[in-house]
Amino acid sequence: MNCKERISELTEEMLETLSRLVQYNSVEGEALPGMPFGQGPADVLKEALQIAGEMGFETRNLDNYCGYAQIGSGEEIIGVVAHLDIVPAGEGWNTDPFCLTRIGDEVFGRGVSDDKGAAVASLYALKLLQESGIPLNKRIRLILGCNEETGSRCMAHYNEVEEPVTCGFTPDGEFPGIHGEKGLLRMTAFSKKTQILSMNGGFVGNAVCSRCTTVVPSDVVDVRRLEEALAGTALEEYKVTEENGAITIYAQGTAAHASTPLLGVNAAGCTMQALQEAGMKDDFVEYYNSHIGTACDGAGYGLKIGDDYGELTLNNGIVKTKDGQISCSLDCRVPVTYNEEQIRALAEPYLEDAQGRTQINEIGKPLFYPEDSPLVQSLYNAYVEVTGDESHKPMVIGGGTYAKSIPGIIAFGCEWPENDNHIHDANEKLKIEELKLQTEIYVQAVKNLLEQ
Ligand SMILES: [Zn+2]
Repeated sequence: MNCKERISELTEEMLETLSRLVQYNSVEGEALPGMPFGQGPADVLKEALQIAGEMGFETRNLDNYCGYAQIGSGEEIIGVVAHLDIVPAGEGWNTDPFCLTRIGDEVFGRGVSDDKGAAVASLYALKLLQESGIPLNKRIRLILGCNEETGSRCMAHYNEVEEPVTCGFTPDGEFPGIHGEKGLLRMTAFSKKTQILSMNGGFVGNAVCSRCTTVVPSDVVDVRRLEEALAGTALEEYKVTEENGAITIYAQGTAAHASTPLLGVNAAGCTMQALQEAGMKDDFVEYYNSHIGTACDGAGYGLKIGDDYGELTLNNGIVKTKDGQISCSLDCRVPVTYNEEQIRALAEPYLEDAQGRTQINEIGKPLFYPEDSPLVQSLYNAYVEVTGDESHKPMVIGGGTYAKSIPGIIAFGCEWPENDNHIHDANEKLKIEELKLQTEIYVQAVKNLLEQ
């Protein structure tokens, strides 16, 4: 029997398995003894390992951080790394997010795509490989993590207590594979002397600061000129009020992920730009505009760099004022071919001057496998063999996936090109056909890796 037919035969069983996982609200909860991420993640891991055991696989629970199901034998380990934790269901669902609901050729529920559906596809890929009778001279290990959404401490634990995988993939990104993920450079810019009384905006470092409120003394800027300058920015909305000798500027831009800051409009950036244009003379306004600005390209830090796989991006996420000092969080996504030393050397001359100071908090390593590397080729070939689609190519992204938390793997699926499964949103869904195709691709991908 061929793989496609067998998957069709197993489809109802796969959906039943998925519904057994979807019923758990496996959002990270309060840590309990022996349950580092709380009850929900521990319960869903137990259920998944129970299912894998029923399917005849060897299973192991690694202290409720993660677990694995395994087939085959040999020195090497092909790792498939999925996660069972989810983001909160949130509002706006048309169905019960914790009850797998089938409507037509789609199923709905939190995690049906990200990443419980992917875990089920991987589990059945193992089953098909075992049934196929091909020699499994490597171990094939499906690792199921419980903390991808809130820090990937599950994989830190795996790396500490278990054998590393030789190669593999995580079905927690996009098809036809992500062969590079930019490095993350985090910095904080601080004011020295400033007339700004307070400036506060943004709530996370990894999103564009989309709302910001700034207070300045009335005598440092002309209100009419300020309004004119604000009107010339890309802000969606702004409001200027003056009372008791102070001007308050409320600015509303557009939210976007930090890895694509140009898709947003930074409320803090536009405010600073307008203050300067309106004629305010201030050290930190000048420092902000010359170093951070609104271009999102890192030029002000000597970091306007790029390579064949993309440009550096810079995002100001949070602006805070404490004891008269303003701080701005900066999240930069660094091109995959640059290393830490190069970044430090480029930025160093620009970090501090008389008007302000910036500190480097962290320079995270990028993830990068050339397109022609055996790993990327094995996975991409499996995708092409099953789908026939050669128009989409493996990609490099600014965001980070689970692949960064465990060496030797890249992200491969589960999202499809030009398709929106409402991941992290209400009414998360999965086409049953996608689940079947995904399973077939993973069978072929592991076969390719076995030959590698
Ligand atoms: Zn995920």
